[in-house]
This record gives sequence, structure tokens and C-alpha cells, in this order.
Amino acid sequence: MKKANLQLSKNDDLNVDLLLRPRIFEDYVGQETIKKALSVILGAAKQRNEAPDHLLFYGPAGLGKTTLAHLVAFDLGAQIKETSGPALEKTGDLAAVLTNLEPRDVLFIDEAHRLSKPIEEVLYPAMETRKLNIVLGKGPAARTISLDLPPFTLIAATTRVNMLSNPLRSRFGASFRLDYYSLENIESIIEKSAKILDIGIEESGIARLAAASRFTPRIANRLLKRSRDFAEMNKIQMIDGQTIKKVLELLDIDEFGLEYIDRKFLGIIENQFKGGPVGLNTLSAALGEEKGVIEEVYEPYLMKIGFLKRTSGGRVVTDAAKEHLARF
Ligand code: ADP
Repeated sequence: MKKANLQLSKNDDLNVDLLLRPRIFEDYVGQETIKKALSVILGAAKQRNEAPDHLLFYGPAGLGKTTLAHLVAFDLGAQIKETSGPALEKTGDLAAVLTNLEPRDVLFIDEAHRLSKPIEEVLYPAMETRKLNIVLGKGPAARTISLDLPPFTLIAATTRVNMLSNPLRSRFGASFRLDYYSLENIESIIEKSAKILDIGIEESGIARLAAASRFTPRIANRLLKRSRDFAEMNKIQMIDGQTIKKVLELLDIDEFGLEYIDRKFLGIIENQFKGGPVGLNTLSAALGEEKGVIEEVYEPYLMKIGFLKRTSGGRVVTDAAKEHLARF
């Protein structure tokens, strides 16, 4: 498996993503607590010769939830079948996926917060008692047949865990929250990726790239790829801090990894609401963005870097954020 992947072209963006995805737990940087807990769960299930309990991974995008699901399947020597909340439109779609499962398969459902209620209703008995209940016909003549499913492990991933219904959440044997990576972990991911892709990058380049990566592996890899483009176009052999500075300017990303939309978000609080506090509803209307997206997509990183605070009165931008915004 490893060998086949190494033959992928290093020049195709999609292939590059596959090349950079860790294949074994040892290559998965950081998230030590989760790895430890998983090794117990997986080890025990293997010893008992059973499919492990259903697992839930949640946290911001790009932190490695899909990668973890693949690592679990690989570790179990199981097949992984992948689908997502929005792809499962009708209960029949889920029934098709479930009846296609083979014993010990891992079923990965991404964006689980987008599963509809009727789909969840089919999922509960499948998770709990491995039964697929299908309603045949309509009205008084309708009847339900129940099919037995093979033992399988459901792994669900979501960026919006608050949107999962309680009954669904409670049916997972273990839930893991992926947190932002440390700067050192991101640097080590960049170093590994640069090695895989044969990219010459100095320590100063790695440090600057890591600082703009929002503590997120996917962003780190994406910025590394764009830096490779820039270096190739400008015949730069060794990428250093100065090269990264130019790449970031070109992409309109600042040294904290903030993009235009992040600065706009902070700018609205500062300029239209005198720095806050401003309530989420008002902010959502001013920005033209859903409340949940603001809470779970924009805000976590801004709070992490100390640019935003949530207070009982609402959102407040910090002095550090004001100082930063003044430069634009
Ligand atoms: P998510 O499913 O949480 O959005 P992914 O699993 O798709 O995130 O991760 C995005 C990419 O980031 C992966 O393809 C992989 O290259 C990289 N990545 C994620 N987590 C790690 C990690 N812990 N160590 C090394 N690379 C990682």
C-alpha cells in the first residue's frame, strides 16, 4: 500500500494531498491524548476479535479527522467506506450504504451535522443493535422489515458538534475533540511534507509558514504547496522567511494567517460597534453570515490568538487585534 502511493506524481495537486496524508499512526503528528485513547480502544477490540465501538471526531476543519478515520481502518486491517451527511439525502441512500457493508468495515460519515432527522432515525438501530428497519409500502398496508447488519464501526466527523442531535451523540462509544496543533507540531508537519515533496526550505521559512498556518495541518500543507509554486516560478532553490513573506502577500494572508474575511469580521466589531461588546445576532446580520458559522468557523481561531473575546455582553475585539488591524 505504501509503495503504490509513493508512485503517485508529486506534481498533481490532488496526488500531493494523498501523498501528504499520514498512513500510519506514527506519522500522525500530535493529538497525543487521542492517539493514546484510540490505541486502547483499537487494541482491546482486536484482542476480542470484535469491531470497535462507534467513534465521533469533532473540531475545526483541516485538523485531521478524516485522516484519523483512515488510520483507524488501516490499524484494524479493515476496509473504509466513505460518505457524508449531505450525500445521504433519502433513507434509501443510507440503506444502500448499510447493506453494502461487510463484516468489520469502517463506515466513515463526514459532515455528520448535516444528516437529516429521518436518516438519523435509520441510523440509531443500525448503530445500537445492527438492525436496518425498512418500511415497505404506505398507509395501512405499510409494514416494516428488519435486516441484520454485519458488525461494523461507524466513524462520524463534524466541525459543528453543537448541531448533532443528543440521541445521535449519545450513541457513540467514544467522542474525541481535535484541538489546534502546537506551533512545534505544525513545524514538524511542514518539515515532513517538504521532505516528501523534495522542497528545499530553511528553518526561517518553516517558522514563518507555521505561524501563518492557523495551527492547522491542512493550511500548513496548502501554504507549502503555494510556496513551492512561487519558488519554481522565481527559480528559488531554497525557500526562506523572505520567500514566505512574499507568498503570503501574494495570497493576501497576513503573518497570523488571517484572510480578508477575518479582518473584515474584526473590523466590523471595531468600527461599527466601537470594539464591542456586540451580540451574536447583530454580528450575524452585519456580516451576512450564519450564527453557527461565526461561532464554529470564524471565532475559535481568533480567540485562540487572543484577538477576540466572548463576554456575557457579547463579542469584544482585544487591543492586540486593534493594533493589528491598524496596519491595514
Ligand atoms: P479534517 O477531516 O479534519 O478536515 P483531514 O484529515 O482531511 O482534516 O486533514 C487534512 C490534511 O492535513 C491531511 O490530508 C493531512 O495531509 C494533514 N494532516 C492532518 N492531520 C495531520 C497530522 N496529525 N499529522 C500530519 N498531517 C496531518
